[in-house]
Amino acid sequence: MRPILCAADGRSTSVVVIQLFDSLERKKVELQTLQPGRVGIYSCGPTVYNFLHLGNARPLVAFDVVARHLRARGLVVHYVRNITDVDDKIIRRAAELAIPPSELVERFTAEFHTDCAAIRCLPPDAEPRVTASIDDIVALVERLIAKGVAYAADGDVYFSVANFPTYGALSHQPLDDLQAGARVELGEKKRAAMDFALWKAAKPGEPSWPSPWGPGRPGWHIECSAMAERHLGGTFDIHAGGVDLTFPHHENERAQSQGANGPGTFARYWMHNGFVNFNGGKISKSDEAARVLFDRAFKLRLLCDRHSGEALRAFLLTTQYRNPINFEVVVDGEDVATAPLRFPGLEDAERRLAYGYLTIERLHDQLAVGKAAAPGPVVPEAEAWLAALQSALDDDFNTAGAIAALGEALSLANRILDGKLEAPKDVRRRTLERLQRDLAIAASSLGLYEQDPGEWLAAHRSRRCAARSIDTGWVDAQLSARTAARQAKDFSRADAIRQELAAAHVEIMDNPKGTTWRVLD
Ligand SMILES: [Zn+2]
Repeated sequence: MRPILCAADGRSTSVVVIQLFDSLERKKVELQTLQPGRVGIYSCGPTVYNFLHLGNARPLVAFDVVARHLRARGLVVHYVRNITDVDDKIIRRAAELAIPPSELVERFTAEFHTDCAAIRCLPPDAEPRVTASIDDIVALVERLIAKGVAYAADGDVYFSVANFPTYGALSHQPLDDLQAGARVELGEKKRAAMDFALWKAAKPGEPSWPSPWGPGRPGWHIECSAMAERHLGGTFDIHAGGVDLTFPHHENERAQSQGANGPGTFARYWMHNGFVNFNGGKISKSDEAARVLFDRAFKLRLLCDRHSGEALRAFLLTTQYRNPINFEVVVDGEDVATAPLRFPGLEDAERRLAYGYLTIERLHDQLAVGKAAAPGPVVPEAEAWLAALQSALDDDFNTAGAIAALGEALSLANRILDGKLEAPKDVRRRTLERLQRDLAIAASSLGLYEQDPGEWLAAHRSRRCAARSIDTGWVDAQLSARTAARQAKDFSRADAIRQELAAAHVEIMDNPKGTTWRVLD
């Protein structure tokens, strides 16, 4: 059913058509939700065994914008993102650290939530964990066996790919190619190389749960099928994840869920985000220098500390989610293990955010004084940009187009604030009021500019000071000395102090509220 939605600003009711690229159909299609006005989204969440890297942040941000925009368009969104808290990688890492897997899981679940908050992702509506979903998983495996698409083998249970006719449809790979790439690993008891594990018999020292096939733990793919069904039903609207999950993970999820519930069930649309490339390409395992650099430069926490989580989000949103994005790292020196690093994409994103926050702060300051304008016309440019931003997002969540529209609004606000736009005073005031309101609407769709401008700019200045080794105490002392010199009418001394500060990349700005300063690039 075509969703008939209320415009986000509540001013009018209009039919909004959301287009999205469906990986199964391999084309852009119109979103037709299962229930009018409601949309269910399942996104594959993290395996919590380590800190996130930049590549992990991309699906988080991309699908956070999907949920935010659909909500802004009036849909009731139910967004489910799981946590994988039992897995080979968790067991291996816990053994390396000589701690119980549960301790590792608790630690990195908390770190994951910290990172999500830093990159301004809203919490999902449900965040199921595998270890709390074992009953659902066991029940689903039993159904698959009863349907004849899975079989037990000596404590393991496998999905029988030969009994699922449309296997390979999602990843668009011929069965012969998939067959050629399939292997039977040591210890596996499957009948065909393509078959995959739904349930793994317990090994000594590993976490396990009782089941009809003996103690064991779930395979990776079955957990998402079970959790999606529990929280969204046997059929739901959108399944989302990174393009690297298409095969085998999503192909297997689809096979399991349709194997249990029949053709046409499970996700109605599949959305996949593109890769984050590193210095123009993928990292080769044989390139030691690239791997060292990756370890140093790709850790999300470090990047957020250096440039703010919001800058990282803004960087990711400059490219539409399906396209690959290049993350450039500049090494200022010979030794990749120790030389200082720079991230031009994040520097640029932080600079653009500083411009935006400064504009919003000026807008708030300007509108805090004087009376609100009476109803009437605004500058025509103030009418168009929000609609352009929303239609960019309606068109397969084109955040690049949305950010360009947002840039127009910020530029218009600055032209008015700088007195560079010819218009009657009341039109200018009304336009600024409209911009202030619409910028808040845009902010909630993109997850940008939602913080207090003064606080963000103060934190930005601290980061810039740290990067330039500027002592803020010294700057404050210089400013006091300059104020004293000006009061004593010693203008040459005051000017000399301004120049000293400028030489240290500090620019001072005198305004009616006093003197402020910022760190230059
Ligand atoms: Zn999944």
